[in-house]
Amino acid sequence: MTSFIGPKGSTLGARVKFKSTWNRMFLFVVFLLVSILLSSCTFSSKPDPTPVKGGLRIVYLNVGQGASQLLISPSGKTMLIDAGNNDQEQVVLDDLKRYGIKRLDIVVGTHPDADHIGGLDKVIDQLDIGKVYMPRISSTTKTFESVLRSIQKKGLKVATAKSGVILDWDPQVEVKMLAPLQTYEDNNNMSAVMRVAYGKTSFLFTGDAESVSEKDMIASRQELHADVLLVGHHGSKSSTTPAFLKQVAPKYAIIQSGVDNKYGHPTPTILGRLKKAGIIVYRNDTQGIIDLSSNGTNIQITTER
Ligand SMILES: [Zn+2]
Repeated sequence: MTSFIGPKGSTLGARVKFKSTWNRMFLFVVFLLVSILLSSCTFSSKPDPTPVKGGLRIVYLNVGQGASQLLISPSGKTMLIDAGNNDQEQVVLDDLKRYGIKRLDIVVGTHPDADHIGGLDKVIDQLDIGKVYMPRISSTTKTFESVLRSIQKKGLKVATAKSGVILDWDPQVEVKMLAPLQTYEDNNNMSAVMRVAYGKTSFLFTGDAESVSEKDMIASRQELHADVLLVGHHGSKSSTTPAFLKQVAPKYAIIQSGVDNKYGHPTPTILGRLKKAGIIVYRNDTQGIIDLSSNGTNIQITTER
């Protein structure tokens, strides 16, 4: 009996095995299809926050009508320039979390306008902060006072952002402040302007500096050239004068502005000027987050949309 059942049993066993192999293959194909579907979905989602090893990364966060840039150095040092408006602070905090940022070695508030420093109070409250730079300018707005309170609460002091300051950030990256060169009455012209150089690649961060500050920067004969220009004052025609653009001579321009903003930023004048100069333009309002990485020679740019 046993010898009779034996072979029958083993045939059944083989059949079960055969069936389970098919099941496994079927599951594998389903898994494959789902993965392909998911990867094609993530194509249109936010850029991959995985750290780029040994390179400089610059993320132009999407804070609507405002400005905010996150920089991560080759050795993992971090810097945040501006943090958008008050109503965008959660966006900034979420993005910093997504990029795994718990500490900011340097925070720069380019100037006291709300669309730049609005979100800084919460960022300073919630993260470990190294050094804070802001231009020497007083403002009586609640937003500004709130940022100063957060700085005080952390026992930090504000270092003055002005031309000539060299930031101690990462030995592989040179970070220089080019402006403000003097005291201006206008808040925008008091903007801290910074040039970041890594290997053969360079980047200019302009805040809301307008033509007056641009003129002084040209006259100061500082190195202004940059591969990537953050277009001044969200693409307002008050900035990016032809003379300044000629000196910077960028390959790429980034514009941080909100969809259908009331200021009409970026203006057709500036868009036309950039186009005429053959500069490739990236915009937060149409492309979402702009994520750039440099290996010191090449620059790679990916966008959310
Ligand atoms: Zn602004």
